[in-house]
Amino acid sequence: MNKQKALLIIKPDGVQRGLCGTILKRFEKVGLTIIGFKFASADPATVKAHYPENDVWFGKVGQRTLTNYAKKGLDAKKIFGTDNAIQIGKTVKQWLISYFQESPVLIVAVEGYETIEIVRKISGNTIPILAIPGTVRGDFSHDTIDLANEQNRPLRNIIHASDSVEDGEKEVNLWFTKEELFSYKRADEALMFPLN
Ligand code: GDP
Repeated sequence: MNKQKALLIIKPDGVQRGLCGTILKRFEKVGLTIIGFKFASADPATVKAHYPENDVWFGKVGQRTLTNYAKKGLDAKKIFGTDNAIQIGKTVKQWLISYFQESPVLIVAVEGYETIEIVRKISGNTIPILAIPGTVRGDFSHDTIDLANEQNRPLRNIIHASDSVEDGEKEVNLWFTKEELFSYKRADEALMFPLN
């Protein structure tokens, strides 16, 4: 069975709140191997390349707002000037690029089995108030879509975690050079996977 790579970013709100160590510990404890690690200012072009630039992703992000607004009887046009999911997604992407300029971020590449499912499980739901306790977002954030949109900013949900095998590979290679990535075995692999 092949291992998978995933990218984690402790976003500006996580860094500003001094949560880097606390959060990273959770991913180390579960047994994932850290293969890349750096603290850096994210330049806008890298953030733009990091988040997808296609209608499927824009639509998914915009639909999150529309679903939430429908439940509450709110009108997307008031904030976004449109109720088109793709247009809303494009606006959120612009907000993300600005948000990443607030402070440095901690960028970590991890590797392991079924890594994508594990990092998403530990990170929790994108919408902080829906993220269950025990997850990073559930434990450390309680931002809401209404408030974030009203303030023209992305949800402050502490962490980014790759959400597909393809994105994991793409994102790790976007943020790290080959020389910044390491290949080695954790000593406790022999205990976790005795027949490896
Ligand atoms: P993720 O993989 O869980 O981070 O979720 P996405 O890739 O769908 O969205 C990227 C980021 O955009 C999220 O982590 C949020 O910070 C932000 N975001 C997503 N949807 C919304 C939204 O409807 N409104 C606002 N304000 N921000 C959003």
